[in-house]
Amino acid sequence: MPKVTLSSNNALVIPPDLLAHLGIGPGGVVSVELEAGGALVLRGAGDASRCAAPPKEAVESPAPVRSHPKDDGATLKEAIARKNLQTRMQFIKGVGPKLTELLEKRGVATVEDALYLLPHRYEDRRELTPVARLKPGFSAVFSGKVLSADIAATKGGRRFFEALVADDSGSITLKWFNANPTFMKRVWKAGRTGVFVGEVTQFGFQREVHHPDVEWLAEGKDIQDILDADPVNFGRIVPVYPLTEGLSQKVMRRVMKEVVDGFLGSLQELIPTPILKPLLLPGLRQSVRELHLPPPEAGLDDLNQGRTPAHRAIAFDEFFFWELGLALKKRGVTLEEGIAFQVTHRYTKQLAKMLPFELTGAQRRVLSEIKADMMAPHPMHRLVQGDVGSGKTLVALMAALIAVENGYQVAIMAPTEILAEQHWHTIHRFCKELGVETALITAGMKGKAKSEAMGRVASGSAQIVIGTHAVIQDKVEFARLGLGVIDEQHRFGVLQRGILKKKGANPDILVMTATPIPRTLAMTLFGDLSLSVIDELPPGRTPVETRIAFESRRPQVYAAIREEVRQGRQAYVIYPLVEESEKSDLKAASQMAEHLSQAVFPDLRIGLLHGRMAPDEKEAVMGAFKARELDVLVSTTVIEVGIDVPNATVMVIEHAERFGLSQLHQLRGRVGRGSARSRCILLTAGKFSDDGEKRLRVMESTNDGFRIAEADLEIRGPGDFLGIRQSGMPDFRVANILRDGGILEQARQAAFGLLEQDPELSAVGHGPLKEELLRRWGQRLELALIG
Ligand code: ADP
Ligand code: MG
Repeated sequence: MPKVTLSSNNALVIPPDLLAHLGIGPGGVVSVELEAGGALVLRGAGDASRCAAPPKEAVESPAPVRSHPKDDGATLKEAIARKNLQTRMQFIKGVGPKLTELLEKRGVATVEDALYLLPHRYEDRRELTPVARLKPGFSAVFSGKVLSADIAATKGGRRFFEALVADDSGSITLKWFNANPTFMKRVWKAGRTGVFVGEVTQFGFQREVHHPDVEWLAEGKDIQDILDADPVNFGRIVPVYPLTEGLSQKVMRRVMKEVVDGFLGSLQELIPTPILKPLLLPGLRQSVRELHLPPPEAGLDDLNQGRTPAHRAIAFDEFFFWELGLALKKRGVTLEEGIAFQVTHRYTKQLAKMLPFELTGAQRRVLSEIKADMMAPHPMHRLVQGDVGSGKTLVALMAALIAVENGYQVAIMAPTEILAEQHWHTIHRFCKELGVETALITAGMKGKAKSEAMGRVASGSAQIVIGTHAVIQDKVEFARLGLGVIDEQHRFGVLQRGILKKKGANPDILVMTATPIPRTLAMTLFGDLSLSVIDELPPGRTPVETRIAFESRRPQVYAAIREEVRQGRQAYVIYPLVEESEKSDLKAASQMAEHLSQAVFPDLRIGLLHGRMAPDEKEAVMGAFKARELDVLVSTTVIEVGIDVPNATVMVIEHAERFGLSQLHQLRGRVGRGSARSRCILLTAGKFSDDGEKRLRVMESTNDGFRIAEADLEIRGPGDFLGIRQSGMPDFRVANILRDGGILEQARQAAFGLLEQDPELSAVGHGPLKEELLRRWGQRLELALIG
């Protein structure tokens, strides 16, 4: 007999099998009564409000349950509801061990996961389609009588099973390619009537359905009986779920209906009604139900495009919590104590005098925004966005000098070694004249050089430290870090920002990106940062002329390079780097360099740059190119970010169709940096996908980074746009920042507005909201402390 025990906090712990014996499921409600003789009587179910709170251990399923540290404040009902959402799928009716495993593979471990695994598409099965009206490309339900059925073979000798089915309106062929013929012959007999489900395809002039599902008509019944017997799969708009191998739509629909019917009530409506009401959005429960089990009057197109009110409501819910998290984070930063820098102009004025040009208006404006932040007694968290070549480096250097004027150190972090080295060169050149000490720290540095540099950082004698992510490694210690600059933020995760921040005592943080992030995306990704935009290029830049060239025009492309070189200019030839086979790309680039220098331009000086080269080799090549000791630089995409050689006026991109749009734009930004007319030639064999062609056409049509980013976002979707893992893009289930931009805006306003009224979310009724926020995004946004 299993034993009931008393836990340390005086909770009665009832073993699972005893609970099962009492018919009390996990997360179930137990009523307890003390009888005269001192016996405790347990009963399952009953009215929740009447019973005492079930001790945690007593009702927990044996499987792990996500913990909710702040349960105590919640009402009993909420606590129970929470638990129910965490119910494991194995406790759902009809879900055995095997199905549990399959569902888990699909990411569905709990009832909550299931409720949010939304269909990715819907099929209209409200009515039977007459056979004559079956349309290729659509899935349909139709009924009919089998006219004939037999084994057949293709011209190539491949055997398949074929049946001809007809109703009053016409006939259609059904085919199976891997079926057992003996079995098929027994089942598919001429004269049988059934209901069929499948996708209609076009084969020559003939419409066919391959591998249809079938429900046979039993004797004495009619078609309507079949439909009525399975209301989950017939007579309605049915959901189509993302599956995993071994899992069928039929099973999935049944399980989902079970979950929706049984657990929908456990979903809590957390967003305050005054926020939802004016937006005319349905509640969360209704929305989730309608997406799993669309009502008969729902619009099929709207459902399939994710544009129903239910979709919008869930998108709003997702955006709202994310934006609320960002708002809370932003508020947290503004409350923190930071360094109040003073602007003495000691170095900045001097630097301005040393420059051969004036700052652009946009640079000056952004700089004054940065200054205001730096002077404030709270840490700066600012994002500077500016197209390639807009002069972000200089802005960063100015900000760095302000910190140095105040006796603080600065860390400048770049995504690649080449870029870090280039920044170092630019900055070091000015700093030497100013009498400011710099240090370079990269992952490629070894031994003495590195320990010497690190020593100078730790002692504080290095005032501006430039490097790759090596700068934020554990071993690097700053004496007095006052400002951290992250260049090309999209290459770094959100985490890096946090680590850099911890290298000092609440230093200011400046983030720079050349990816002109569309507004909706910036709001989602960097909503906790203040934004400055350098929306002006230095004068005298002419837009880069861009042309697509097919392989047949290669001689003319080479002639163009030769012409530029003849005029004293330089050229880039870029090769794609496909991740899976870095080696073969390397070969492609080095073979190309070889080929160009021997066969095509024997009289020109050709250099090669790729990611596998040692840092000093790379630097030597880059240095030679900058010093005009090379005419043509053949490179992989290591050249992509930030490299600055104004005398280079032509860029040829090989296999241009293989590159992403933003990447092409970044690459192209390497030319057109001086006042001379520059060209970018996109070489392609012409065998590209629709998207590939679209990308190249966009490149031809515009130099505007924002338009390119928007087009890129549209072609690729937000996940790929920045590389989802690196970018810190939150993984919304329904919300789509492209489609739902308007909703995002509303959610942002609502979230920031709410926080203005109730900065700590401490008002009555906001407790559960805060709890849910911490549960969803607490870790991700490092909000836990605000608790
Ligand atoms: P990015 O914003 O892409 O990082 P950089 O900071 O590398 O751009 O600047 C690109 C080039 O423009 C550099 O050669 C830089 O010296 C030059 N530059 C920066 N600001 C100005 C300016 N105000 N006028 C003219 N040239 C400038
Ligand atoms: Mg740059």
